[in-house]
Amino acid sequence: MFEKILVANRGEIAVRIIRTCKELNIRTVAIYSEADANSMHVQMADEAICIGKAPSSESYLRVDRIISAAEITDVDAIHPGYGFLSENAHFADVCENCNIRFIGPSSRAMNALSDKAVSRTLAKKAGVPAPPGSDGLVENEQEAKEIAKRIGYPVMIKAIAGGGGRGMRIAHNDMSLVKGFYTARTEAEKAFGNSGVYIEKYIENPHHVEFQILGDNRGNIIHLGERDCSIQRRNQKILEETPSPLIENRFKDLRKKMGKAAIRIAEVANYTSAGTVEFIVDDSGSFYFLEVNKRIQVEHPITEEVTGIDLVKQQILVALGEPLKISQGDVHFNGHAIECRINAEDPFDDFRPCPGRIEMYYPPGGRGVRLDSHAYAGYMIPPTYDSLIAKLITHGRDRRDAMDKMNRALNEYMVTGIKTTIPFEQAILQDPNFRRGVYSTSFVDQLLGGARRELIEEKA
Ligand code: ADP
Ligand code: ADP
Ligand code: MG
Repeated sequence: MFEKILVANRGEIAVRIIRTCKELNIRTVAIYSEADANSMHVQMADEAICIGKAPSSESYLRVDRIISAAEITDVDAIHPGYGFLSENAHFADVCENCNIRFIGPSSRAMNALSDKAVSRTLAKKAGVPAPPGSDGLVENEQEAKEIAKRIGYPVMIKAIAGGGGRGMRIAHNDMSLVKGFYTARTEAEKAFGNSGVYIEKYIENPHHVEFQILGDNRGNIIHLGERDCSIQRRNQKILEETPSPLIENRFKDLRKKMGKAAIRIAEVANYTSAGTVEFIVDDSGSFYFLEVNKRIQVEHPITEEVTGIDLVKQQILVALGEPLKISQGDVHFNGHAIECRINAEDPFDDFRPCPGRIEMYYPPGGRGVRLDSHAYAGYMIPPTYDSLIAKLITHGRDRRDAMDKMNRALNEYMVTGIKTTIPFEQAILQDPNFRRGVYSTSFVDQLLGGARRELIEEKA
């Protein structure tokens, strides 16, 4: 077993990783920026090293400083968490060259899925359909118009390096296409340092259904079922559940088909470690490949709750070179799990971020409730990073039970001093269509009563 692991991340995911390390008797090293000196992950780790100033470009994205911290503390491995350097093949390479195990997919697999346009081509090779669209990068507006003409409006212009729902625009005609082409490029350059975009047919009222996969270094790959992440705002997930109500209620045979498709993609990419294959499903049950997330996913806990498998532990075992001890037939799904993402944002003021000091803090508990968080009373949320402060997860014997537990837990959860999205999550849980399990990615727009899609287009 590894003796010591450095966690190259912050917030709830750093805490989550340290917890499993403790259970495995692995010592941990936290890295932190000056803004995070009082953060929970720093206090929980056995050692902690400050690696720079608040902006991520001066700290959590600095490969040189993270590697120095790893060398000074003499760790065996680095866990990158999600976001930051987690999907950076160069970082994985540097780790390996310094004799530090990278806890994630091999750099070969990362390169096979290097960006979204390359991944689309790989999916086709694996015999899995992606939405009709461009073959790779779209270089200029003329080319964009030709593709849109071929596949038909509406289309989506998407950043090849995209993530977190940023760098995408919908277009319904040539005019909004040209505008969207340039705004998506500018936004992508700013957010990802890469202005490359591609074009995809926009699938109307789709469902986001993704499959958790797990592979070892010997070619064994299994899937751990799906997660429905259609409850999104601005293409960013805010509530996830498993099993997917769409699959359970309307397309039971999809689980097997999509699970197989996810595994085929992973096989063609020689994928190792934990990963997620994302799909969109249209109203007739046709599914299309979206992208592969080559890392632990924010919403991984709901899969852990229904399968009983610790995904971070599996990542560590795979990184050690252990073969998977779980076969596809060993994976059983028990009950239903829901995750609500609690953000420090004001849902009554267009989800404006609300950093600041948490005054009173009372976390929910009891049967079937799990809270993955780095928040505590007196904690000062810095304005610099993602606004996620907690993930509230409930597990029940069926969907109804998981919803009842979530309602109860959201009511118990008390946070003062800052605004949070708790009231918004409560509104979702009370919505009759959500309760029936009838929703698509348009759900949040409808709930907010806004025509956000049109707004996005107008801005473009
Ligand atoms: P998930 O699919 O795991 O829910 P998200 O898309 O919500 O992932 O992103 C998880 C976190 O990682 C967010 O904090 C998001 O801002 C960040 N992130 C995701 N992709 C990128 C990227 N390409 N570059 C920078 N940050 C990213
Ligand atoms: P990110 O890297 O930001 O996670 P994705 O490609 O995974 O980007 O897409 C995020 C979300 O955007 C999807 O879950 C879906 O709601 C929406 N989306 C992306 N592509 C399409 C498409 N072709 N048609 C309809 N919706 C899409
Ligand atoms: Mg995605």
